[in-house]
Amino acid sequence: MIRVMTIEDVRQLLKKVTLERFFLRLIEQLKSDFARWPEFRKSPRHAIQSSDGIIELMPTADKEYYSFKYVNGHPNNTQHNKLTVVAVGQLSSVKTGYPLLLSEMTVLTALRTAATSALASQFLAPKGAQKLGIIGTGAQSEFQVLAHHYGLGIREVFYFDVDAKAMLKFAKNLEPYRLKLHPCKEGRSVLDQCDLITTATARPGRQKVLEADWVKPGMHINKIGGDSPGKTELDPRLVEKCKIVVELTEQTRHEGEIQQVDVPLYAELWELAAGKKKGRESPTEITLFDSVGFALEDYSVLRLVHELATDHHLGHKLDLIPDMVDPKNLFGVIA
Ligand code: NAD
Repeated sequence: MIRVMTIEDVRQLLKKVTLERFFLRLIEQLKSDFARWPEFRKSPRHAIQSSDGIIELMPTADKEYYSFKYVNGHPNNTQHNKLTVVAVGQLSSVKTGYPLLLSEMTVLTALRTAATSALASQFLAPKGAQKLGIIGTGAQSEFQVLAHHYGLGIREVFYFDVDAKAMLKFAKNLEPYRLKLHPCKEGRSVLDQCDLITTATARPGRQKVLEADWVKPGMHINKIGGDSPGKTELDPRLVEKCKIVVELTEQTRHEGEIQQVDVPLYAELWELAAGKKKGRESPTEITLFDSVGFALEDYSVLRLVHELATDHHLGHKLDLIPDMVDPKNLFGVIA
């Protein structure tokens, strides 16, 4: 029997645990998993690109668990009332190879991407940062804001999207939280007023969501939307000015902002989590977490969900794997 977590199960889990506690646990889980980076099997994800988007498989494993995620990125999907990013994932036992958990991962991807941004911000954002900017108020946006609210104490949010409806949706969803929300008329005014920023837009091609001259010294940038070959968000002149942190260098060189420019990198995120390198070193440096999403983040969220779902008896047990008395008698299962 495999535990299956549907979207409704994940919703129930978050209700039981609360979003705040889930985010705090997830940030801790990510930090401790990144800190033991050498224990993981790592490779760039397997990607198949088409003119409409990208479909990816993201596996990793340590000695105990194997995980993988199926995920896509189709920037034009929202024009047809479909999500840009959807995902499903699995956690298995390395010892037996048996799957333990099969889960929806569209919501879990938004949660883990936001928690990873918040972890990077904990190391790289200017001290005492209170004002978060966000450009692109689509599916990922509220998650990014709340991970920073809970993980860093962010109280004010400046935001912009080219789609006015997406901005209204964002404001409505965040109304119940204790946040000061400031809609902005353009990306530049978001930047003028915040201490750190997430860019979460979805457009094919080379975009300049942030231009080099807009960014003031001391800013931290979490860029999540430039995440596949030929799809970037930042002015390359800005990338050249930044102290850059990535997930897996080999993958990010191909998929991140650094595919545009040949610049030296400061660190991989695990080196900050493991205390091998410092995060922010001066109040004036511009730091960039060039996030494209790495399989370890899916591993961390799947492990946490597996643990919490077991504790709270959530999810459905489905017979997707034969339960055998005589393991050599597979034919008996259908006879
Ligand atoms: P979405 O389509 O729901 O939202 C994207 C928003 O960006 C839309 O509201 C759109 O109007 C807006 N936008 C596009 N161009 C803009 C511009 N120039 N200025 C302002 N707003 C603009 O997509 P989503 O699910 O929120 O994902 C956002 C991005 O994050 C995607 O590119 C996706 O591939 C990426 N992503 C990355 C990770 C990661 O781990 N790094 C994980 C999940 C998603």
